Amino acid sequence: MPVHQRILLKLSGEALMGDDAFGINRATIDRIVAEVAEVVQLGVQVAVVIGGGNIFRGVAGGAAGMERATADYMGMLATVMNALALGDAMNRQGLKARVMSAINIDQVVEPYVRPKALQYLEEGKVVVFAAGTGNPFFTTDTAAALRGAEIGAEIVLKATKVDGVYSADPKKDPHAVRYQSISFDEAMARQLQVMDATAFALCRDQELPVRVFSIFKPGALRRVVQGEDEGTLVHV
Ligand code: UDP
Repeated sequence: MPVHQRILLKLSGEALMGDDAFGINRATIDRIVAEVAEVVQLGVQVAVVIGGGNIFRGVAGGAAGMERATADYMGMLATVMNALALGDAMNRQGLKARVMSAINIDQVVEPYVRPKALQYLEEGKVVVFAAGTGNPFFTTDTAAALRGAEIGAEIVLKATKVDGVYSADPKKDPHAVRYQSISFDEAMARQLQVMDATAFALCRDQELPVRVFSIFKPGALRRVVQGEDEGTLVHV
């Protein structure tokens, strides 16, 4: 039995890259979709916020001399591309996916309308939120916190390469230990990187728990929704 009825899954753009240097790796996206399908079959309502870092990041554009807001809009458009690829892969694997964008691009993708998103979720469709929050100077982590709060998700599941929050960087420090769970306050006091500061504050204020886990561990997403010890739970 799943312990969550409605989840918000945050996938970074890099999760779609596989071992490629950038872009979308077909085999990788199919593998992720298979993990999502497993939890949909358990009856869990799934909404996804997808990043864009595998294609473009506003910060990089800004650093290269572009106006930051323009670069951020490019980054948001990158997330739309990822969302389309993800939605397509979901539909190919027999899920019913709906992509909704925070920026209106009517010919390409339907706009985000909250009641519509809720209706899709109740119908068992997977909703993929594209274009982040629709605003520059934010990230898709913040979009995950925002949409998670808006749709009444019980938890934000932040899929990363590392299987949780560690006391230090596990790649650099052999003594680094994974936290099973930690409060927002303690994570902040220990300066642990969970999400960016805006996303972190929003989740904490809304008392929306976050679980950081690895999407690359087969079955990890299913174990998370079944309440097994996987990754790190960040709670109020
Ligand atoms: N972005 C933005 N506003 C948002 C979400 C994203 O401006 O609400 C832009 C920003 O430039 C960011 C890029 O889109 O660098 C890609 O998103 P993000 O870096 O969060 O993707 P991820 O790291 O998850 O792949």
